[in-house]
Amino acid sequence: MDHPPLNAPSSEAIARLVKIVGQANAITEAADQAPYLTEWRDRYVGRTSLVLRPGSTDEVSQILKVANTERIAVVPQGGNTGLVGGQIPFETGKEVVISLSRLNRIRHVDSGGDHMVCEAGVTLAQAQATADETNRLFPLSLASEGTCQIGGNIATNAGGTGVLAYGNTRQLTLGLEIVLADGSVLTNLKPLKKDNTGYDLSNLFIGSEGTLGIITAATLKLFPKPLWHETAFVACPSLEAIAKLYQAASTSLAQQLTAFEFLPTRAIQFLEKHVEKIRAPVETTSPWYVLLEISHLSDPATQSQETPETASAFETLLADAIDQRLADDVAIAASQSQQKDFWQLRELLSEVQKFEGGSIKHDISVPVHAIPEFISRGNALIEKLCPGARPVPFGHFGDGNVHYNISQPANADKSAFLDRWEEVNAAVHALVTEMGGSISAEHGIGRMKREELVEHKDPIALHTMRAIKNALDPVGIMNPGKVL
Ligand code: FAD
Repeated sequence: MDHPPLNAPSSEAIARLVKIVGQANAITEAADQAPYLTEWRDRYVGRTSLVLRPGSTDEVSQILKVANTERIAVVPQGGNTGLVGGQIPFETGKEVVISLSRLNRIRHVDSGGDHMVCEAGVTLAQAQATADETNRLFPLSLASEGTCQIGGNIATNAGGTGVLAYGNTRQLTLGLEIVLADGSVLTNLKPLKKDNTGYDLSNLFIGSEGTLGIITAATLKLFPKPLWHETAFVACPSLEAIAKLYQAASTSLAQQLTAFEFLPTRAIQFLEKHVEKIRAPVETTSPWYVLLEISHLSDPATQSQETPETASAFETLLADAIDQRLADDVAIAASQSQQKDFWQLRELLSEVQKFEGGSIKHDISVPVHAIPEFISRGNALIEKLCPGARPVPFGHFGDGNVHYNISQPANADKSAFLDRWEEVNAAVHALVTEMGGSISAEHGIGRMKREELVEHKDPIALHTMRAIKNALDPVGIMNPGKVL
């Protein structure tokens, strides 16, 4: 963006910023700053002279007033679990990191009105637990939920395993409190499902990755809590079979279908090799597996009287799948502990790839029906580009969201393989665009995909995004160099 250059914070500006949060909440020592400057995948290591940990919306507002007048760039940070480098400052050391972790109060829960107001630094797990305590469900669910924060979830419009039934973070957010770049506070925390009074300003900040303002609180939607689940692990002969199984499941189970995740046999091999005591729940070895879950709102004890058709719908679906050769084998979890074991296979998948050396990642989406073609063409492309590299495509089938990750060839040199990250991304993303998909389904753009966004996004959309950025952040202090 064409802003006049920003300034490194002067010692006088640092003193003013430290005074706002108090010495105890201003981190200036390199060793103490380290956790704020590296990210989960070790791809980016940033520098800063100052990490600030404000404890209130007012303190955030005072910080941005100083930053805006002194032309100092700021990088908002939540739980630091983002996967595209948006929360890490650049290596120049000129940016100030603002950690929202201390804004961690649940301000209000209205279980009857199906909403709660959380501050930005509340962890996702804490938000889920609070909803649960009031017999309600907050359905956002990510493997990083113990660490990621509501502000970060909103800033990245996080997805996860609950999107199929409940939508992504955007659909779960009713309103926001945001500190704008000039320090003014835009408050719209009303729990309204309908509000057609002009532009939807909250929506602009959802998925904005810290480039438009700092989210300090949010009104989140709550849902009736399912009382029990049925979970199956299904071995499938092909992706085409999975596509048909998904169609059958979404038709017969409708709203009750709350998860439809898929993973390849290579993922099971990695899990069994690297995680002690973990085993696939089915005996049959098949090329693909599906983790399928339905949720019931009624008590299991009354289930048979209330909705007899539902209890059998799940079993009928799975039996039909075997008959029609959409499934080779099926295991239905017999207890909650078995359900947990099934889910563990899915949740450990991101982590376990680390033990197989370098892994080049993609978080893409294509129309659901196009997933088989995308993976088949993608695998052929990868074999040509990096012979022997091992694709591990998995993810949220029902959302069209594939984590198209490629593990290095066995025994290859890790850094030589990872050096090809951009080249491999470019080839895969070209295929995604050709097939009408998106180069970022749920992780965002951050720093990692900024250059690629220019190639893949409609120029008019990019122009409009830049106009919005300029209008809301004319000095350009909000997380510069990320997204745009
Ligand atoms: P951070 O990483 O701290 O920040 C992310 C971005 O948001 C940055 O650009 C930052 O500047 C901005 N930001 C943070 N807080 C604020 C705020 N209060 N105001 C304004 N901007 C802010 N993501 C998914 O969508 N689906 C998944 O299934 C999923 N699984 C994951 C599994 C693992 C093991 C890991 C490590 C990550 C996973 N992620 C997933 C990615 C990540 O957890 C999400 O993007 C999450 O929403 C980031 O939240 P955070 O609090 O960690 O944000």
